[in-house]
Amino acid sequence: MQDRPPSVDRLARSLAGSGLPHPLLVDIARTAIAEGTPELAADLVTALRRSMLQPVVNATGVLLHTNLGRAPFAPALPESYTNLELDLGTGRRGSRHAHAGALLARACGAESAIIVNNGAAAVLLTLAALAAPRGVIVSRGELVEIGGGFRVPEVMAQSGARLVEVGTTNRTRTADYRAALDNAANDIALVMQVHQSNYRIVGFTEAPDVRDLAMLGVPLVCDIGSGLLDSACPWLPGGPPTWLRDEPAARQSLDAGAGLVTFSGDKLLGGPQAGIIAGRADLVERCARHPLARALRPGSLVLGALHELALRYLARDAEAIPFWRMATAPIDELRARAVGYHVGGTADVVDSVAVPGGGTLPGVQIPSVAIALPGDHTAALRAASPPIIARVHEQTTFADLRTIAPHDDAHVAAALRSLASAR
Ligand SMILES: *Cc1c(COP(=O)(O)O)cnc(C)c1O
Repeated sequence: MQDRPPSVDRLARSLAGSGLPHPLLVDIARTAIAEGTPELAADLVTALRRSMLQPVVNATGVLLHTNLGRAPFAPALPESYTNLELDLGTGRRGSRHAHAGALLARACGAESAIIVNNGAAAVLLTLAALAAPRGVIVSRGELVEIGGGFRVPEVMAQSGARLVEVGTTNRTRTADYRAALDNAANDIALVMQVHQSNYRIVGFTEAPDVRDLAMLGVPLVCDIGSGLLDSACPWLPGGPPTWLRDEPAARQSLDAGAGLVTFSGDKLLGGPQAGIIAGRADLVERCARHPLARALRPGSLVLGALHELALRYLARDAEAIPFWRMATAPIDELRARAVGYHVGGTADVVDSVAVPGGGTLPGVQIPSVAIALPGDHTAALRAASPPIIARVHEQTTFADLRTIAPHDDAHVAAALRSLASAR
């Protein structure tokens, strides 16, 4: 009876060395036997392992790569209870916003801040709490779509607020806002300014600045999107890099009179996926009290990570914030690391350009250094452990040093060396 198919259980047990839990191995064994190829079960184990959520090396040169989870940030948090909603002073119930929210508010000069699950949730909650069912003025030049289905008119509709469009795609003036406010039928509760984020209109353009919009007599909400806390970048020893020039920042928007700013946690802020609503305490409080706030609130994992991130900002320690460390690493340092890979063979160390990505700073290029290897080796690099995600252009594979963490250098160098010498 040699060629009778093996039992599912026996086959699953034979795969135990893979370390995968038994029920998953049973699924694989069942599939392999049903397909009449039990000998391929080990390949299915490999395929399943590869499809699982895992660390990867970002060698694309795109700092905030949406497919790779935007900003890398994972502080070690203790596996423990926390005082998430306990006031340790009084022993009574506290607020989960008192920790990370308060520190982020301190870091951007806001009176108060709360945290929700992402930037889209921050906008949705703000509109629902401060405007619905009344009108919100937005310039036609700012009715943007950010990747992944965030469209300002649709979020507005979901919030229950009514969109009042003013101006044109390329030019909107303060007078346009004033005219909309003067029309009582519009019943305006808020003015919202939305950062264009992932595109630019150039040429014959005009848009009022925050200072003008803040004086219209209704609260101004600036959806700045990317979460630059302060345009002076006090956490960077060398001050702000030139490529940040036109990016709106939370502190400066609030100083100019915005009632609130909303932004993402995992873009230029460099933290976990989250959304932050920061600004005037009374407006933040109304957002926190709205019933949607409960549905949109993150848990202690995210709040713990943001708490740690805010402390690193306040300590002005960019080296401890992976996004800023990578974005501002000196080009000579990248080149020295690339040369140190000693890839040899057909590979070269070449100049490259990295980009912020993540729907921020379109057109911005950050000088970088890459290893260039003739041919498309992206599939082989993805099969490495951990997987290495590289970029291919005109039949040449590029591994960009700016987004590779130094602790991954040895792994990337070894993978590239084996490909360069295999040719
Ligand atoms: C990115 C972005 C959003 C959406 O934020 P998510 O965190 O991706 O939900 C909203 N508004 C602006 C202006 C953005 O740039």
